[in-house]
Amino acid sequence: MAELSLITPIEYLKGVGPQKADLLKKELMVFSIGDLLQCYPFRYIDRTKFHKVRELHADMIGAQVLGRLISLQEVGEKRGRRLVGQFRDETGMMELVWFQSLTWLKKTLQVGSAYIIYGKPSEFNGNISMTHPEMELYQQQAKKIGNQTMQPVYSSTEKLKKANLDSRGIQKLQETALMTVLKGVAETLPAYLMEKHQLISFQQALLGIHFPQNEQILKLAIRRLKFEELFFIQLKLLRNKQLNTQKYKGHRFDQVGEKFNRFFTERLPFPLTNAQKRVVKEIRLDCNTGAQMNRLVQGDVGSGKTVVALMSMLLAIDNGFQACMMAPTEILATQHYHGITSLLGEDICKVRLLTGSTPTKARRIIHQELEDGTLDILIGTHALIEDKVKFKNIGFVVIDEQHRFGVEQRAKLWRKNIIPPHMLVMTATPIPRTLAMTMYGDLDISIIDELPAGRKPIKTVHFFENQRLRVFGFMREEIAKGRQVYIVYPLIKESEKLDLLYLEAGLEGLMREFPLPDYRISIVHGKMPVKDKDFEMQRFIKGETQIMVATTVIEVGVNVPNASVMVIENSERFGLSQLHQLRGRVGRGAEQSFCILMSGDKLSKEGRTRLETMVRTNDGFEIAEVDLQLRGPGDISGTQQSGVLDMKIADLAKDQAILTEARQSVIQLFQEDPELGAPENRLLLNYIQKGQPSISWDKIS
Ligand code: ADP
Ligand code: MG
Repeated sequence: MAELSLITPIEYLKGVGPQKADLLKKELMVFSIGDLLQCYPFRYIDRTKFHKVRELHADMIGAQVLGRLISLQEVGEKRGRRLVGQFRDETGMMELVWFQSLTWLKKTLQVGSAYIIYGKPSEFNGNISMTHPEMELYQQQAKKIGNQTMQPVYSSTEKLKKANLDSRGIQKLQETALMTVLKGVAETLPAYLMEKHQLISFQQALLGIHFPQNEQILKLAIRRLKFEELFFIQLKLLRNKQLNTQKYKGHRFDQVGEKFNRFFTERLPFPLTNAQKRVVKEIRLDCNTGAQMNRLVQGDVGSGKTVVALMSMLLAIDNGFQACMMAPTEILATQHYHGITSLLGEDICKVRLLTGSTPTKARRIIHQELEDGTLDILIGTHALIEDKVKFKNIGFVVIDEQHRFGVEQRAKLWRKNIIPPHMLVMTATPIPRTLAMTMYGDLDISIIDELPAGRKPIKTVHFFENQRLRVFGFMREEIAKGRQVYIVYPLIKESEKLDLLYLEAGLEGLMREFPLPDYRISIVHGKMPVKDKDFEMQRFIKGETQIMVATTVIEVGVNVPNASVMVIENSERFGLSQLHQLRGRVGRGAEQSFCILMSGDKLSKEGRTRLETMVRTNDGFEIAEVDLQLRGPGDISGTQQSGVLDMKIADLAKDQAILTEARQSVIQLFQEDPELGAPENRLLLNYIQKGQPSISWDKIS
């Protein structure tokens, strides 16, 4: 038979028959020997540390004990049937208990022999016991590869365990696999890179991660494998970016002209923040390279993304192009339209709004003006992407709150000109750096990390239920000053009925405390028809009601500068980014704004951390970072589709330093050898030629 290698199907590995192979495929997605070797241990048992029986207590996560199995007995009947062993060292005695695989255990366990056992101690009536401990004959320990001191622990599943592939069983396979293929495993990184980044070889790393001789080797192995994983992800992403740049020619905006300048000198009512200036400049430079721009602008709510978008669009118009801006809802599009026309005035260029409710006649005029080029900027909803909407010469597209649109919708905007327009997507949900570099690694990213001067930071406080009367009192004071208040109830995924119950229960109390005719309340919830929702929102926006009660998360980006208080009920039920988004609904006017987090008395540790974080900081990037640390990348919106969860060893919540190092390394690589033609980069060239690069717009959720 041919020599085994990493790509050999797993069933050819000694000790794996067709049946086990089948299980490994189904349970662990292990198809080849290489896949198996990529199932890394999730922790290690320190084999140098032994405990005495007398030292064991129930708070220990796990303990290793050397002793003798002195008896083994089956007790109980039917479902209560179990195997009980007496285990003893020189300090005392404990019970070992098994509920499964009894027949096999009875056959293999040797009463009278010395064992090294590992398990979690539990305590009952002052007696210590272990359930399903790992058992290893003392004599066999000595024969292990390198006489290891750190024993790897692998994740397994119920089905695998039944087939003897528990952590121990998998460890045995790893051992066989390493002995069979390790010598032939090829290096994946060029030698000069390994030297530069001080990485051990791939072979050493594979051995080191499965059978570390000591902590030091383990650390080096982990570092090497993490670097490698992140490096190749970045290599692919940045290669994609390079290909897109080569493939899609872009319109050249080579002049800053009259309209841009007039707006800047005559109309702009405030000085730009440094962050806004920087981002406008990044966009300007990027639109003059001859390649198409794909840029993501991240900025916290209120950081002033709209002006940046407007100035970019003026740049396009000065260069003879049209521009458009798409928002996910009619309310948002309308707000953008009013915001932009009031900033811009009537005479600089022609701006129109197109939404689902634009009357047919007005719509026809808009279509006409777009085609003959008299309309410069079109703002709207999905209505913009209809086929009937044809531009004379679109050069710049802005998409607000991009995550609300699908791939196909964005692609349609690309196709509205022969050379695709420059694309600017904006999001108010800050993403931690490590996620951004991985999820959007092939886009250019601009960050507006500064709020306009003079903005009063929102004051956030946390109140328990028994302080509610104070909260009502405070609301009355604010309303008396002419302000408006939001009250938000959690959206309970499992049960829309429950949502409504929460809201209705709260509402009853509210109506008593805030009776007509002095107070008027708008109500918005998920069960309402869109028309009624819009009507209620409009009443609040116009100031006809003072209190807005909502279950559905209030429209992203809705701007009611007069609203100064956000009360979030059952705030412990919200995720951090959601809390931050909600808080961003206030603090938009000149007045001091407040966010009040209401919660029950009982808080989980995580819930407490979330609320404390909200009280401590207003910085969306800091909040996103805490969120990532608390929940891991899996729960951050957008990660599911992005593939960042498929990582074998790197962890975006922890590995920022290695990720940055890997990305820098790839950037430098492409600077020095853009086509990877140098002989020393042969390995890397091979790697990217295997994969089919594609732009990652579809990964943006
Ligand atoms: P967001 O980034 O959330 O979309 P907006 O663009 O809606 O923020 O801006 C929020 C508010 O701040 C708007 O009223 C806008 O006019 C104002 N604004 C934007 N930039 C500045 C600035 N540099 N100085 C003062 N106010 C600003
Ligand atoms: Mg906005």
